[in-house]
Amino acid sequence: MKILIATGNPHKFKELLAILPKKQAGGKKLEYVSLNDFKGLTLPPETGSTLAENAAIKAVYAAKAAGIPAVADDTGLEVGYLNGRPGVHTARYAGEYADTDENNRKLLAELDGLLLHQRGASFHTVACLALPSGQTISFEGKLDGYIGFGYRGENGFGYDPLFIVKDTTQTLAELTDEEKNRISHRAKAFNLLAEKLKMLK
Ligand code: IMP
Repeated sequence: MKILIATGNPHKFKELLAILPKKQAGGKKLEYVSLNDFKGLTLPPETGSTLAENAAIKAVYAAKAAGIPAVADDTGLEVGYLNGRPGVHTARYAGEYADTDENNRKLLAELDGLLLHQRGASFHTVACLALPSGQTISFEGKLDGYIGFGYRGENGFGYDPLFIVKDTTQTLAELTDEEKNRISHRAKAFNLLAEKLKMLK
C-alpha cells in the first residue's frame, strides 16, 4: 500500500522514513511517497489556529488530491518565557518569508539576558493520518528542553541547533538521526500513528 507523506521538506521526509513501518501487521508492504512525487500537488496554506487543525488541513487535502492515505504533521516550538510562542507560528516566526537562520536569531534575541533555567521550551507535534474519504485520526508527541545561547551541532534542521534536550547537555543538532528519532516529538507522534498504518485496510 502506498502512503503519501504530505511534505516537500526532504529532512522531514527522511526522518519519517526512518520511523514509519515498512510492513503492515499482515505482511503487506508499505511504500512511502512525498509531495515531490506528486508534481502539481501543493498544500493549502496553514490557516488553522492550532497544530491539530493545520495537520488535519494538510493530511485531508493531500489524501483527497492524491487518492491514497496521507500523513501530515504540524510542529510548534513553545517557549515558556514567551507564553507558548511561537507555537503555531513557528515556521513564520520572523516573518512570512523568513528563513531558518532569521527565525533562530529572532528567538535568541527575544531570550537575550535570560539564564538557562528561564529558557524552558518544548517541541510539540501533531501527526494526522487521513483517508481519501476525509476520515482522520491524530496523535501527539512532545519533547522538553531549553533554548541554548547559540548554535551547536550540524545535524537536523530548523531550531535543532538551539534546542538543548532536557536532562542532557546536547542540542538536537548534536544528536545522530537515530538518537533524535529515539526521543523526538515527531517520533513519539509518528510511532503512535505507525500502529494505525499497520492495520490500515
Ligand atoms: P512544520 O510544522 O513541521 O513545518 O514545522 C514548523 C517549524 O518548526 C519549521 O520552521 C521547522 O523548521 C520547525 N521544526 C519542525 N520540526 C522541527 C524539529 O524537529 N527540529 C527543529 N525545528 C523543527
